[in-house]
Amino acid sequence: MTAAVVIKYAIELVAVLLLALGIKGLSKVRSARAANQLAAVAMALAVLGVLINFLSTSGIDSSAWLWIIVGTLVGGLLGAITSQKVPMTAMPETVALFNGCGGMSSLLVALGVALVPAAGSDGEGSGALVEAISIVVSVFVGAITFSGSVVAMGKLQGWLDTPAWMQSKLRHAINIGLAALSLVAAIALIGSGQGLWLLVIGSSLLGIGVTLSIGGADMPVVISLLNSYSGVAAAAAGFVVGSQMLIVAGAMVGAAGLILTQVMCNAMNRSLVNVLFGGALGASASAADQGEYQGITSCSAEECALTLETAQRVVFVPGYGLAVAQAQHILREVAELLEAQGIDVAYAIHPVAGRMPGHMNVLLAEADVPYEQLIEMETINPEFPRTDVVIVLGANDVVNPQARNDPSSPLYGMPVLNVEEATTVFVVKRGLSAGYAGIKNSLFERPNTSMVFGDAKKVLSGLAQELRELGVGKAKVG
Ligand code: NAP
Repeated sequence: MTAAVVIKYAIELVAVLLLALGIKGLSKVRSARAANQLAAVAMALAVLGVLINFLSTSGIDSSAWLWIIVGTLVGGLLGAITSQKVPMTAMPETVALFNGCGGMSSLLVALGVALVPAAGSDGEGSGALVEAISIVVSVFVGAITFSGSVVAMGKLQGWLDTPAWMQSKLRHAINIGLAALSLVAAIALIGSGQGLWLLVIGSSLLGIGVTLSIGGADMPVVISLLNSYSGVAAAAAGFVVGSQMLIVAGAMVGAAGLILTQVMCNAMNRSLVNVLFGGALGASASAADQGEYQGITSCSAEECALTLETAQRVVFVPGYGLAVAQAQHILREVAELLEAQGIDVAYAIHPVAGRMPGHMNVLLAEADVPYEQLIEMETINPEFPRTDVVIVLGANDVVNPQARNDPSSPLYGMPVLNVEEATTVFVVKRGLSAGYAGIKNSLFERPNTSMVFGDAKKVLSGLAQELRELGVGKAKVG
């Protein structure tokens, strides 16, 4: 074993450990930022390990280095620009795109080795069978991940809709046909080395077929599942090129994505089978008879401030609209005024509020809201009956009582925040439009609910001004 190989293994070992620590750290809001940086360092080390391996391998011509340098520069530049430009609200689409890039990389690596066998690291004896199986898995999962992620991104971005025929039973027949086609191609590829392109086409179309029919509130589950697939594809690509680092990292991403998928399914009270084969919740919901709202009460920011002045406990419920309005900073200001008045303040976090897992945590962390004030759904739900005021900010589906008491609702069974149990509920949103699931919200018609119509940022600015005029928080906040 040469010195270069020893250094490569040492670097890869450190990279794997840092990646494991990074993934672990992502499970807590407090450590998530540092964990992300740790994982980025792990990736940089992994690249370094590959380069050292390259340096120690004789026979690599200079054009390969040119490709590596150009690829690193272009990829690095695109990553840097994306991280600066993408707004928080477009993060799910970005995650979908990144998953797709992961799938595409694994697909291309496997294609490269299949088309130019010399590019593979080992392929002798029984190793040839392992390599052939690895290529099949890498191509199959990589292609599904790539095409499925592109469709998911298009749907989240609003570029793609679910076609009517995709909601009929016909889609199951088509998807089963595509799966059978891919299986035949896979067997042919392992047995005789034929059928590579058939496998690429079959699995790419299968990725489109499975993802296109999914919609509405099920999208977060699909994104995390595709994330898991990208890990599986990377692990398979690791077997193809004989990279232990890629195998371990891919397996970790695959497992983490699968656990997240399960957590999301639990949060929405849906099984994975139901998500994948149940069709578009959003589409079926929008077709349902929503009816007109009856007996809506609305009030101004001034009336809201008067109620807040006398409250002892206030809970804010952030949702997607808060992120759209970018009102997290002014929300923190309002909360500080209330706290300075001695009012107990908390934030109720629904696991799928917003458009991606952890969306609200990230948003509020950006405004330096203390972590200990972010209370998860299971913990805060029993506390609503002794809460004086709940202010729902741009949230809709996650506070819809129909999820609990209307078996005909598409949201039925999804655990929600029981905000209507508080003494008074204010709902801040621009109008009576539906949320992501496209359905009516009976919370708005409750006698203890008042709508405060307007953009969340404008309403909260008005609220802060009214509170200051009332002298709320004057004792400690200037
Ligand atoms: P939501 O149900 O989509 O409702 C958001 C509400 O915000 C809308 O009703 C909208 O009403 C309001 N709004 C939009 N812009 C606003 C602004 N500038 N100021 C004030 N209000 C504004 O959001 P949610 O309650 O957070 O629920 C999340 C939904 O998305 C769930 O169905 C969940 O399953 C789904 N989902 C979640 C994820 C995830 O991973 N977290 C991913 C994809 C989908 P107006 O237009 O009337 O203002």
